[in-house]
Amino acid sequence: MNDIRYVSTRGEQEPLSFKDAVMTGLARDGGLLVPDRLPDVRPFLREWASLDYADLAFAIMRLFAGDVAPHRLRALVNGAYAAFSVPEVAPTRKLGEGLYLLELFHGPTLAFKDIALQFLGRLFAEILEERGGRMNILAATSGDTGSAAIAGVRGQERVDIFVMHPHGRVSPLQERQMTSVLDANVHNIALEGSFDDCQRVMKTLFNDLPFKEKYSLGAVNSVNWARILAQIVYYFHSAFRVMEETGADGVQFSVPTGNFGDILAGWYAKRMGLPVRRLVLATNENDILARFFNTGRYELGRVVPTINPSMDIQVASNFERWLHAKLGGDCAAVREAMRTFAETGRYELPGASRGKVDAEIVAGASDTKRTLATIAKHYKKSGTLLDPHSAAGVWVGEQFNELDVPTICLATAHPAKFPKAILDATGEDLAHHPVLDALAGAETRVAVLPNDAEAVRAHVAAHAR
Ligand SMILES: *Cc1c(COP(=O)(O)O)cnc(C)c1O
Repeated sequence: MNDIRYVSTRGEQEPLSFKDAVMTGLARDGGLLVPDRLPDVRPFLREWASLDYADLAFAIMRLFAGDVAPHRLRALVNGAYAAFSVPEVAPTRKLGEGLYLLELFHGPTLAFKDIALQFLGRLFAEILEERGGRMNILAATSGDTGSAAIAGVRGQERVDIFVMHPHGRVSPLQERQMTSVLDANVHNIALEGSFDDCQRVMKTLFNDLPFKEKYSLGAVNSVNWARILAQIVYYFHSAFRVMEETGADGVQFSVPTGNFGDILAGWYAKRMGLPVRRLVLATNENDILARFFNTGRYELGRVVPTINPSMDIQVASNFERWLHAKLGGDCAAVREAMRTFAETGRYELPGASRGKVDAEIVAGASDTKRTLATIAKHYKKSGTLLDPHSAAGVWVGEQFNELDVPTICLATAHPAKFPKAILDATGEDLAHHPVLDALAGAETRVAVLPNDAEAVRAHVAAHAR
C-alpha cells in the first residue's frame, strides 16, 4: 500500500509526506494539512487491546508516518513516553456510575499537551539531524502550550524556541513554568499586550515568507498534524481498558474543548474503527462550538476570560479539518466557507437541520458555577480533584451519560495548576504537586518586549543561532 500523504483542506498545495507535513505546519495556501485517507484498523483491534502505551503509539503512528524508519519511530515514541511519571502514561480510572476519567496530565508540565509535544520535540530533532539545518519555533501562549512546547525541545542543539506570553496576564504558576527553564535554546518573551496581540505578532512573522524561510520558522500549535496524531493514541488506549473492565462493546468520550484539536483526534479514532459511540464536546462560557454543533450556525462572539483559560477560544483552528471532511473533501467549498467566516464572522453549514450537524458529536457548555460545583461534588464523593478544564468536561459529560456504554471524561490538566479554582470550589488549599512547588524561588529569565512585531522580529534575529 502507498504511504498516506497530506493534503491541504484548501486544495492548493501539492500533497506532502509525513515529515514534510510536520515541518510545514500550516499549509502554504493557508489551509490545514489532513491525511488523504484514514486506515481501517478494525482488523487490529483485538491485538492492539493488550499493548502498553508506547507499543500502541508505535502501532498507530507507523500507519501515518510511512517515511519514518520503523526503528527510529520506535525510539522516538519510547523516549517521549518514558518522560511521563507513571508507567501507564495515561491511566484511566473510575469516577462514578458509568463514568471514567482519563488522566492525561502525568507529563513534565502536568497538562495533556505534553503527550503530543514530548513526541513532536523529538520528531523535530530527528528530522533536522537527518536533513541537516536548524529551526526556530515561534509560539504564542496563554498558558499550557508554551510550557509543554518548551519542555519538548529544551536543550536541543538544532532548535531554538521563542515563546510569547502576554506580560502579567498568565497565571504566576504558568509563567514560572516557562521562565524558569534556563537552557540556552529557550527564549521567553513577555509581550506588553494581550494574548491576541501575541497571536497577531506571530501571524505577522509567519506571513513574512522571506523571514519565515531565512529563519526556518516552525509551528508547535495544534495545526501541526503530528500533534493530532499523537493524541489519537490515548483514545484507543483508554477505550480498550474501559471495555475490558466493563464488558461494554463501545464507549463515549467527553472532551473539554478549545481549539478543537483534542476532540478531533477522538473523531479520527472513531472513523478509523474504534467503537466510540459518540463524542461529547464541552465548552465553557465561550461556547461558539457548542452552539454550532447544536444549530449548524458558526457565529463569532467576544472572548470572555474564565476559570478554564485554555478553553477561552472563539476561532478554533482545527474546525477547518472537520469541515473539510464534513463537506466531502470539497476544497472549493472549504475556501468559500472560510472566506465567508473571515468577512462576516458567520457561517452556516449547508443543510444542517437542527440537531443534525454531526450524528457523532453532541455538545454542551458549562460555566463557572457548574464547573466549581462539579469540582466540589467529586471531591466530596471520592476525594478526586478535577482541574477546572476537566471539570467542565465532566459536567457536560454527565448531562449526556444516558447511553448504554460508559462515558470517559478527559482530564486535561493536573488540579495543582489551578489552585485558585480548587480553593474556590472546596474552600481548602488542596492542590499541590512537587514539580510546581519546586518552582517557588527558582531563577527565571525573560525578555519584556513592546507590543510590536518589529521588536519581536529583531529579538528572534538577534538570538537565533
Ligand atoms: C489546550 C487545553 C484544552 C483544549 O484543547 P484543544 O485541543 O485546544 O481543544 C483543554 N484543557 C487544557 C488543560 C488545555 O491545556
